[in-house]
Amino acid sequence: MVQTAAEAVSVPLCDIAGQNAALAGEIEAAWRRVLASGQVILGPEVSALEAEVAAFCGVRHAVACSSGTDALVLALHALGIGPGDEVIVPAFTFFATAGAVCRVGATPVFADIDPATYLLDPAEVVQRLSPRSRAVIPVHLFGQACDMAALRAVAEEHTLYIVEDAAQAFGSGYAGEQCGRFGHAAALSFYPTKNLGAAGDAGMVLTDDVGLARRMRALRVHGSEVRYYHREVGYNMRLDALQAALLRVKLRYVPQWLEQRRQAAARYDALIQQAQLQQWLQPPVVLPQRYHTFNQYVVRVPAAHRDALVQFLKSHQIGVEIYYPLGLHEQECFRHLGYQRGDFPRAEAAAASVLALPMFPEITPAQQQRVIEVCAAYAAAHAPSLRRAA
Ligand SMILES: *Cc1c(COP(=O)(O)O)cnc(C)c1O
Repeated sequence: MVQTAAEAVSVPLCDIAGQNAALAGEIEAAWRRVLASGQVILGPEVSALEAEVAAFCGVRHAVACSSGTDALVLALHALGIGPGDEVIVPAFTFFATAGAVCRVGATPVFADIDPATYLLDPAEVVQRLSPRSRAVIPVHLFGQACDMAALRAVAEEHTLYIVEDAAQAFGSGYAGEQCGRFGHAAALSFYPTKNLGAAGDAGMVLTDDVGLARRMRALRVHGSEVRYYHREVGYNMRLDALQAALLRVKLRYVPQWLEQRRQAAARYDALIQQAQLQQWLQPPVVLPQRYHTFNQYVVRVPAAHRDALVQFLKSHQIGVEIYYPLGLHEQECFRHLGYQRGDFPRAEAAAASVLALPMFPEITPAQQQRVIEVCAAYAAAHAPSLRRAA
């Protein structure tokens, strides 16, 4: 391997501290405003964020809450989904997609994914329908929108609610429309590593349905619309004003950050091609009509090499992560649902072969070059035949 100046670069998986430092002046001014106001939970700062995010995403109503997970719970609860109901979710996603279904007392029913993109496969959803099916949760995984035309057709034919899990897809698009506009409700997460990240936990539900929005606003404050009068039992799922103030600062940078993520993804694609690694380090597949925002840049490698490559990258100070090492149907907490290994072969294959490379808006070409150099070094040492096959 050629020694280059980039050799010394260590590359984090993401860089939250760097992003906060670049905006420190603006964030501190916003926080001083909140502290001086004395209104530190909900209030005008949170309402302003809701209005700004609703406008950004092109929806009528936005209900801020404590996390993306809680956003899913609020949406499912407000749609009346509960015990005895089934909700179809992909077998390959972050745990919260299915966890939220359980938290409203309903049963998650897993469906397999498209092997190329890891997104929920509409044909697999049809396979999992039952008389108890009430909703489907498409997950716009890694920042790429699901096939919403097909999923909407399935949902309409079988009278299912659609709750989009747009936690990883803030600002992503499909056929010219923003994610968050395709279902009865959509959950956003502002977890620090997401496309729009808070300095802690935060989330939001989007909807065009005023009745649903009203019920979710009540549910997030113990089910009360008039203080101390409770029509139903709700939750404490409020958002802090400090988080809202910071998110309002960062929201203005999101379009630029998404473009930077897309440019970084294109650079990775080119670097992988130049190194002739694409046969065994397969770049992400982007479907037509998508505005992919690359919340993660996930490559696929042969399962036999994946974990060794992770160790090799980490030993070279490259931050990598496996999203996700296990299909949800194989999680211990879902054992009672009766699934087995082999039930979702594409989800299982993905769990064995995916690898997320460092990705954040500010990543430099030198850092990316270093990441691919280290991958190439691994390939040269451990998988020369695979590399030649390219
Ligand atoms: C992050 C995430 C969530 C949950 O969001 P939190 O804010 O962490 O609760 C849900 N679904 C997916 C796909 C996610 O990536």
